Amino acid sequence: MNALAVTGGRVLHPDGRVSEADVLIDADAGRIEAVGEDVTAGWEIARTLDAEGGLVMPGLVNGHTHVSMTLLRGHADDKPLESWLREDIWPVEAELTDDDIEVGAELGVLELIRSGTTAFADMYFSMDRVADVVDRAGVRARLGRGVVAVGKDEADARADLEGSLEFARTYGGAADGRIRTAFMPHSLTTVPEDLLAEGIESADEDDLWVHLHANETTDEVEPIVEDHGVRPLEYAADRGALGPDRFLAHGVHVDDTEIELLAETDTAVVHCPASNMKLASGIAPVQRLREAGVTVGIGTDGAASNNDLDLFDEMRDAAMVGKIGADDASAVPAPAVVEMATSEGADAIGLPGGRIETGAAADLIVVDLEAPHLTPAHDVVSHLAYAVRGSDVRHTVCDGTVLMRDREVTTLDAAAVMDRAAEHAADLVARAE
Ligand SMILES: [Zn+2]
Repeated sequence: MNALAVTGGRVLHPDGRVSEADVLIDADAGRIEAVGEDVTAGWEIARTLDAEGGLVMPGLVNGHTHVSMTLLRGHADDKPLESWLREDIWPVEAELTDDDIEVGAELGVLELIRSGTTAFADMYFSMDRVADVVDRAGVRARLGRGVVAVGKDEADARADLEGSLEFARTYGGAADGRIRTAFMPHSLTTVPEDLLAEGIESADEDDLWVHLHANETTDEVEPIVEDHGVRPLEYAADRGALGPDRFLAHGVHVDDTEIELLAETDTAVVHCPASNMKLASGIAPVQRLREAGVTVGIGTDGAASNNDLDLFDEMRDAAMVGKIGADDASAVPAPAVVEMATSEGADAIGLPGGRIETGAAADLIVVDLEAPHLTPAHDVVSHLAYAVRGSDVRHTVCDGTVLMRDREVTTLDAAAVMDRAAEHAADLVARAE
């Protein structure tokens, strides 16, 4: 066995318990072989990661993002979703080249690795280039090409739909199985009824997952209620868009009937608290969703509406805004957000990982706990939700491969990635003006 050992630290177990333990990894198989004291005894260890003073925990799962949008970070702020998209984001996106998308994805994935995220779900364009970055960088992802029919004629909209299905069919299982895919209609209001139903039917024929934005703002709810006389998720269910291999981003404006529908159909929701706050979209009823039995993950959404991809930040936001939303300080507690960012997040988007246990995918990080803002350590799980930052991550491992050791990313040249991204971003914005 090509053994990788993570030694000398404490481990966050799936039940939330924290204990001193080592982790033995079969690097070739990308699997955790054993967790506990002395588990490395008797093995010839090829490489060791030092976890002393740190916590070994699952790599974080960013359930909804658009990594290439890092190029638009800070380009337009302080506007509501509709005018932000129409006035600032879509005009720039219209100028994006395939190279821009690849360079933006490199920057986004670099940021993910540096802040402890090993898996993510992404919806964008030129996804073959994003897939290439995922492959090279060593992370895990569920990728899909977004379908947007707004502003397109029938033929172009149909081409978009075919492109999304084709990408999902072609790239499923790529990068040694680290890439999985989904059919990704952008949302219930940006894809017309017939195309949505047709796309989902085709997706079902090929056993493809489905990922879409839903109930993000009231502007996405009202037109559907007006045109179809039902709530958006009833409309979605009637067109086959809900089910165990589907997940919705946002789910902010959902009523009790829709929450019940999500639970009944086993449809997951990815909560994006920072984006929802920044665009003043509203507060998702996360406590009620979880109480109803809905699987809830956490996502950053794109960097243009966040403006970073640090999932530790997002955990804190989820806990904070969850309490405000429920008017109850005990709502969305620390252990819940840690689950949402790890095991529950992995389940939401249907990727392996999220658990430090024998037989699980070797996707893990080591968080340095020896810092002023993490002292004293009364409760490590509390720290993960409320005090740890992405910059506290010491090592990142995905599929048994070390992607960052002592804050040095091994699979991407960080300085070159940042230089390239800054250059492409400047050119891009200049072209759009
Ligand atoms: Zn989004």
